[in-house]
Amino acid sequence: MEERWELGTCWLCGRIEVHVAYLGPVQEDGLHAPMHGCEPCVDRLRRMLRAYYTRRDIPHQTPARVVRSSTVRPGRGDTGVR
Ligand SMILES: [Zn+2]
Repeated sequence: MEERWELGTCWLCGRIEVHVAYLGPVQEDGLHAPMHGCEPCVDRLRRMLRAYYTRRDIPHQTPARVVRSSTVRPGRGDTGVR
């Protein structure tokens, strides 16, 4: 991530008048806007991104994991297939 910092509002934690970097477009219901994040939030996003790719400590569901885990039926024991 290459950041260009400017004063603004962090879209992630809501702090205002802090140094924020452009993170990317956010879209909802046909609306879109440039999303900015402050340094602590950008750092957290970096850690989450790295965790996503290392598959450790993922705080939120990821599509690949959700699909895989939903196909495993609880209570049927370990089939040894991983
Ligand atoms: Zn923030």
